[in-house]
Amino acid sequence: KEITEAPIIIIGSGYGGAVSALRLCEAGKKVIMLEMGLNWEKSGIPYSNLLKPGKSSAWLRKKTIAPFMNLFSLTPFTGILDRLEFDHINIWVGRGVGGGSLVNGGMAVTPKESYFKEVFPSLDTEKFYNHYFPLVREELKVNVIDEQFLKDCPYYKFTRVGEEEAHKAGFKTMRVPNVYDFKYMEKEFRNEVPRSALNTEVIYGNNHGKNSLDKTYLKKAMETGNLEILDLHKVEHIKLNNDKSYTLNAQQIDTSGNVIADKIFHCKKLILAAGTMGTLQLLLQSNAINDFPIHENIGKNWGNNGNFMTGRNWVKPLSGGTGTKQSTIPVGGIDNWEDQEHTFFTEIAPLPMGMDVATALYLLINRVDKKGEVTYDKVNHLLKLNWDESNTVKMRENAKYFVRKMNKANGGTRSHFLFNNGFGADICYHPLGGCVLGEATNEFGKLKDHDNLYVLDGSLIPGTIGVNPFVTITAISEYCIENLIKQNEFA
Ligand code: FAD
Repeated sequence: KEITEAPIIIIGSGYGGAVSALRLCEAGKKVIMLEMGLNWEKSGIPYSNLLKPGKSSAWLRKKTIAPFMNLFSLTPFTGILDRLEFDHINIWVGRGVGGGSLVNGGMAVTPKESYFKEVFPSLDTEKFYNHYFPLVREELKVNVIDEQFLKDCPYYKFTRVGEEEAHKAGFKTMRVPNVYDFKYMEKEFRNEVPRSALNTEVIYGNNHGKNSLDKTYLKKAMETGNLEILDLHKVEHIKLNNDKSYTLNAQQIDTSGNVIADKIFHCKKLILAAGTMGTLQLLLQSNAINDFPIHENIGKNWGNNGNFMTGRNWVKPLSGGTGTKQSTIPVGGIDNWEDQEHTFFTEIAPLPMGMDVATALYLLINRVDKKGEVTYDKVNHLLKLNWDESNTVKMRENAKYFVRKMNKANGGTRSHFLFNNGFGADICYHPLGGCVLGEATNEFGKLKDHDNLYVLDGSLIPGTIGVNPFVTITAISEYCIENLIKQNEFA
């Protein structure tokens, strides 16, 4: 087997991985990044839109795997969107250089200061709101839609209707910033550039307009000359050596998923940034296979960030509706966080199906009253998630309250078109926790019981953050890597 020696290896190229890579490379460190997904930019393979999904749309499947409307036959390919299936919940993740930033809606939301404080009582809140959050908003190229464009653009009828109806029902709305370049979108609308958000591109990737990590953090890190990214390299398990270094077993695959090489990597310093589920899989699997030491808090304090989908239908489709044409980029939200009894935030989500389906879609983000736990089934070699309906009771109650109040003020019914009973309790886009900062790691993400292992991704956040999470994941990663470098961890 081919053996590669490297001082520092990062597994995963999502937010945590990209931030660590940039800051380490800027500090003059040579870094190898291993990513199981494809380097899309380098491959030149285009992304598909929602209406005509091609092979690039799903990770090694014969069918697409969007939450709804999966109709097409595919040849298995290392596509961009993956779905991890558990008994009571399905978790969607991005695959490729850029991780979740390639498939997500780009909603760049800074959490409420009071809730951030509640979730991370030991962090310096002031420093986060004065320094780390502004820094990451700049690095990620966060911007806000022009109000006049929003008012005029037919592709945002769903937002305008959603906001009007929310106000009528007595809810407060808010403008949601995004990493999609709204100036580009305006040009799309005027047909001056190729269309992306206005051409139903999003969860299978955006060919234009979106500032995903390959255009921001990873691009900058590559420009230092210190980063090497190996795509289509999946790390299988990790071993701790006597000298406290790590040996990684990885498989290089082709785009059909066939293994073309078994490889060994050896490193002194290892950063796990494989995303919440990827990092937990690696830690728990390595523990089962190699007796890899793991702290008792690994897997604990996991949550779905309160993700709960719901929808409403208009009784008379022609009287309401959200428009035939819809931008894929959400810009509106309903903020009910101050309501002690029904605490939630919801995205006014697009449903660009190419026809007016007279359905309004919402992704609620709730508190997570009862956390779950991730464990490993050593017999069947499977990741297990201790999570069922009892974890989502309050989320369901909030969704019911929300839909009832909206329908009472505006007419309409709970949508049975998209989900059973109108509720998508099992849809999760925001898995968080399991390697919680300060619980399974020290205060800067260094794993307990280890000298040279760090976790920098969504698993540091204890299951909930009250808004879409990538701005927080990026800020926490900036904070951790800055301090780890300061402490000479990578000297
Ligand atoms: P990830 O971004 O998941 O990156 C982990 C990377 O590691 C992946 O590229 C993966 O392929 C790789 N990897 C995993 N295991 C291995 C292995 N064994 N070997 C090699 N590589 C490996 N959040 C928001 O804030 N706003 C939104 O609008 C939003 N919309 C979303 C829409 C969808 C459809 C989805 C799926 C998510 C959305 N999210 C959104 C969530 C957000 O994308 C994630 O929270 C974020 O990407 C997590 O970042 P991360 O650094 O933890 O890991």
